[in-house]
Amino acid sequence: MGIKAHLDRDICKEALTSSLDNRTNMQQYHWLDSLPIATAIYQFDEQNIGLISQNKAFTIIMQSFNDLNVNEYPDIFYMICGMIENGQSQYSEYWHSEKFIPYRQLDINIARYNKVDNLFIISFFDKTSEETNRINLRREMMTDSLTGLSNRVGFEDKIEEKIKQDRKSAVKSHDKFAIIIWDMARFSHVNQFVGTMAGDELILTIASRLNSNALVNEFLARLNGNEFALFMQYDGPDDVVKDAAGRLKAAFDQPCQLADLEIQVECAISSAVGYAQKDNPMDILRHAQIALKKAKHSKNYELYTSDAMHNVKHRFSIETDLRRAIEGDELSLNYQPLIDLETGKLNGFEALVRWNDASRGSVSPVDFIPVAEESGLIIPLGRWVLKEAAKQLKQWDREFGSELPLKMSINMSAVQLVRDDFAYAVSDAMRNANISGDRITIELTESAFIEDPDNARKVMESLKALNTCLAMDDFGTGYSNLAYLQQLPIDVLKIDRSFVTDMIRDKDKYSIVSAVLSLANSLGMKTTAEGIETQELSQLLTGLGCSYGQGFYYAEPLNRQDACAYLLANKFKEKL
Ligand code: C2E
Ligand code: MG
Ligand code: MG
Repeated sequence: MGIKAHLDRDICKEALTSSLDNRTNMQQYHWLDSLPIATAIYQFDEQNIGLISQNKAFTIIMQSFNDLNVNEYPDIFYMICGMIENGQSQYSEYWHSEKFIPYRQLDINIARYNKVDNLFIISFFDKTSEETNRINLRREMMTDSLTGLSNRVGFEDKIEEKIKQDRKSAVKSHDKFAIIIWDMARFSHVNQFVGTMAGDELILTIASRLNSNALVNEFLARLNGNEFALFMQYDGPDDVVKDAAGRLKAAFDQPCQLADLEIQVECAISSAVGYAQKDNPMDILRHAQIALKKAKHSKNYELYTSDAMHNVKHRFSIETDLRRAIEGDELSLNYQPLIDLETGKLNGFEALVRWNDASRGSVSPVDFIPVAEESGLIIPLGRWVLKEAAKQLKQWDREFGSELPLKMSINMSAVQLVRDDFAYAVSDAMRNANISGDRITIELTESAFIEDPDNARKVMESLKALNTCLAMDDFGTGYSNLAYLQQLPIDVLKIDRSFVTDMIRDKDKYSIVSAVLSLANSLGMKTTAEGIETQELSQLLTGLGCSYGQGFYYAEPLNRQDACAYLLANKFKEKL
């Protein structure tokens, strides 16, 4: 066609604004005024285009080109040439008008109107408000509304962008970068006990303190409710990361004043470092998060190391196999006798879960129960243990021909208490096996009260309503707040074996055990000593007034058949 491909600025402007005289009768295009969008009709010949008619909205847009003195116009002539060359009847372009008209976003659409007269309809769609909404929404999505800091999405976006830019840039940037996380401990307690307004105030105070301790080239974000993170770049040894972690930790050192309360906030701190040229910032963020888990336990600053990743992978593989084992009914229970120290008779059994994996061999519950708790598998696992243990007790009743005067102790993890309808699960197991509540003891640890004491109390009350017995397991290893325990419906304190086993050699342990025994006594609670391995210990504890004993001296945890044999052998029959 030989059309000039591109028109310069003045020609574009003229083409858009000038009318072609007398070519077509403009009167017939009054309908343009009824259109809600800026529309005009142009006529095209091989050398030129000219305006035939336009509506008001179109005129206003054209006017704004003039008013703003823009120096580029949409090259309609060129676009129409392209349409004709390609045989298109319709053409749309996302026209980057903000380059020409600040804060305006126009899309242009051209359609062939009349082939004979070579008429084209040109419309401008004003997308400015949609675009502004999109930008605002994106900003909102990236910002934590309380503190104004970036949220997790914003943090990830910014650090990815920063690393990408540095890699492209000709100017050499820092070799390394680090992500540090501060996790405020027990923040949910503040919300719960002092209220969410106070919780917000606490977050704001910490955020502003962190901000004032951060350097200008460091970038701070609030990842979620109680986690803050910092991105920093550096060269040389990693000591600077630990220094920065310590510098910002100062934000937590001073107590925070909330109304008339002074709150001291503890925090766990972790970090992970990466190389700007090769490491993915999202991997480094994940590493920092893995190290944070460790920091929450160790209560120290933890820098991520690759064996932490190995541990995580190991945990995941345990989780996968454990899930399969639960679904495949591959778990079993062992039963460890509990002895009434005064009479020397069997009082009951503690059900202890066992996992014998085809490739791993026998896996200790000390290793897989924490994985089950973290993954939520403890819910189906715990329900299975409840059902199985209750069923076994009933089975022994049947085998011995009458209801045995025995209790079955079942361990309950803190996670079950929070996430399962545990009282329902217990009553379901009782109903299923047709045994009464007074034959079941639920063992729970002090950690069950830490997360949500009110809920813990409610669950315990519903368990008491079922007539079950409640035992505090591993007593002495947790918070050991006896005054608090006094207010809970606890029947038995099980003194942890770490105090019991060595109490003959270790005077301190001896004192602790005898103090716990007399305190429990005065509170009207029974006591069980765990980990009795010798006759001497058994006698000593009996003399100190301990109610029950459990340990290798009496019996190790026994499988179903051995436990049945134990029942038969232990003069138990005589009693029946
Ligand atoms: P636990 O509830 O305190 O159970 C007692 C643990 O001490 C058992 O370890 C038992 O084998 C061991 N033990 C008993 N007497 C002695 C002794 O004289 N000397 C020594 N050295 N150890 C003794 P096990 O079976 O390895 O269980 C470990 C922990 O795993 C349990 O501690 C309990 O916290 C948890 N666990 C076991 N089964 C379950 C379950 O079904 N559900 C839940 N949630 N946790 C369970
Ligand atoms: Mg136990
Ligand atoms: Mg225990």
